[in-house]
Amino acid sequence: MSKLEEAISVIIQELNLQTENDAIFCQRVSEKMRESFSGYSANFEEIFKNKIPNIKKLNSPIEFKNIKFLSHCKHHMTPILGTITVSYTPNEWLIGLSRIVECVNAFSGRLQLQEEMTVEITECINKYLLPKTVVVEVTAKHYCMQKSPNDILPEIKTSHEIINSCSMT
Ligand SMILES: [Zn+2]
Repeated sequence: MSKLEEAISVIIQELNLQTENDAIFCQRVSEKMRESFSGYSANFEEIFKNKIPNIKKLNSPIEFKNIKFLSHCKHHMTPILGTITVSYTPNEWLIGLSRIVECVNAFSGRLQLQEEMTVEITECINKYLLPKTVVVEVTAKHYCMQKSPNDILPEIKTSHEIINSCSMT
């Protein structure tokens, strides 16, 4: 048993959880947890390695709309479920959707505050892509706000924008 699996077996005992098979449960939950928090080992140099030269000098905003994400609340470790829209106006570089999704996964795969995640994704794209502008909008439901099964969770919306006016060409 790994240390993580041992910790999960303590949770089983302390909460008196009834599983079909404790050993398999511990293994499965530990795998899921490692997956959920794999964002800490993200390699951003690698993610943004394949940026594409903006040969045609595209100058209009490019929008990646409603990218789904699952993150976990920094205060309760409960799910934050929502969508992210990334819009950027390119300067020297373009980037593919899959790279933006990887960037989103890198930050959502951590304990998060929605407000901080919004800024972190914006700053990361700005750093590696050096666009003219970048806007990130996050809309999400926070399951730590759920008190009863009938509660209708509000959607929380945050956004962050960076404008690099001096890089205009
Ligand atoms: Zn919370």
